[in-house]
Amino acid sequence: MRIRAAVMDRPGAISIENLTLGAPRRDEVLVRMLASGICRSDLSLLDGTWPAPLPMVLGHEGAGIIEEVGESVDPGRIGESVVLTFTPACGKCRFCLQGRVNLCSGAAHCMDEGVLPDDTTRLSRNGGPVYHLALVSSFATHAVVPANGAIPVPSGLEPALGCLLGCGVMTGVVSVTRRANVRPGESVAVFACGGVGLAAILGAKLVSAHPIIAVDPVESKRRLALELGATHAIDPNGKDPVAEVHRFVPGGVDHAFEALGAPAVAEQAFAATRTGGTTVLIGQPAMGVTVPLPVYELTQFEHDVLGTHAGGATPALEIPTLAELAVAGKLDLAPLVTHRFRLEEIHEAIEATRSGTAGRVVLDLS
Ligand SMILES: [Zn+2]
Ligand SMILES: [Zn+2]
Repeated sequence: MRIRAAVMDRPGAISIENLTLGAPRRDEVLVRMLASGICRSDLSLLDGTWPAPLPMVLGHEGAGIIEEVGESVDPGRIGESVVLTFTPACGKCRFCLQGRVNLCSGAAHCMDEGVLPDDTTRLSRNGGPVYHLALVSSFATHAVVPANGAIPVPSGLEPALGCLLGCGVMTGVVSVTRRANVRPGESVAVFACGGVGLAAILGAKLVSAHPIIAVDPVESKRRLALELGATHAIDPNGKDPVAEVHRFVPGGVDHAFEALGAPAVAEQAFAATRTGGTTVLIGQPAMGVTVPLPVYELTQFEHDVLGTHAGGATPALEIPTLAELAVAGKLDLAPLVTHRFRLEEIHEAIEATRSGTAGRVVLDLS
């Protein structure tokens, strides 16, 4: 079939084009896309900070409806509302067997090569392959994905909100609830309040963390953080944010989250964490970036530093759970979406994401 999609041909160059999308094979489904969030990882690929096989359709945070299924997929799934995940479980690798599906080596292989699990692409242009981003490629009117990468969600969840569960919201919330295992009454600080950082604040509120301190230089983001559940907001411009965190919570917070991927901010998050506490690095920097850490404090004070990919989530478990919480009004996703664009406005949408002032930018694809 013919589809419209945002194709990256080389670093910095993305355009809306007509492509061919092959029919879903055996274990795959065709999804009519309704909405896609734009994540900073899409920009890391677009800027050439991370390598990608080209040409590629970007986007890895999508929601839509199943329109067609491969021969071994239950036809009853046609019409199902789904959110796409970039780590469907291969079910066979060491990490899947350990229950660490977010680290699935089958999914990692597909991400690196830009292919579906059978090592081919369904996307093509003039007979040549166009590569899939992370088994999703959601900047498009349609996508073919592995059937177990299309996670069912309640149809009452607006797609522009549901799509966020595919990456940013899942990563932010689950970094708090699962990776750091924050308990009620424990103190939390979130450094950088973009889409993922704001989702971490939602997660902290969900588990009744207290206090919840937001740190961000952009006034509108601090306001949004307070609206979503932060109890304090710190402007790091002109003030030492670490000293401010210690002023609110003497000794530092139980858990500090870094959601930007900047070494200097990671150092601040570390310094804002108390003895025996946990610093969680969520933001993804360029490959090879290092952060100096005081080893004496790690050992003497049992200060844990955790990295996290997708919050340590099992997407098939977390996405429906978070969707139910959103529908029940316990996870307020609507304020996260600060900008909405059509697919044809991809350049404006990318600029809004790049500006650093947005919560989440969403493409309406219906
Ligand atoms: Zn992402
Ligand atoms: Zn696996």
